[in-house]
Amino acid sequence: MGGMIGVTCECGFAVECLSVGIGMAGVGRSVVSCRACGEIHTIVTERMFPDPDDDDDEPVRSVADGCPVCGGPVVELTTRRAPCPRCGKRLRVENVGLWD
Ligand SMILES: [Zn+2]
Ligand SMILES: [Zn+2]
Repeated sequence: MGGMIGVTCECGFAVECLSVGIGMAGVGRSVVSCRACGEIHTIVTERMFPDPDDDDDEPVRSVADGCPVCGGPVVELTTRRAPCPRCGKRLRVENVGLWD
């Protein structure tokens, strides 16, 4: 399972086409909101078929590891909890049919 989402906020922040869930390659992704960066990042949270010979693979991380860019605390976006990384208000999440 996997899906694509887009998020928008009344402050003007918007991101389209974030991939979430488990994709064809067995890679699980989560979307996290970082207030320090003011950005949303996609992190790899699961890799079913690790390829030790592929140095280009993104490392597997957990949400608790923090922001992949600045290392600050992040909040995983869900349909129920989606704080804007810019203003902290609730983001509007679209195309969430494949979540949960
Ligand atoms: Zn950050
Ligand atoms: Zn906002």
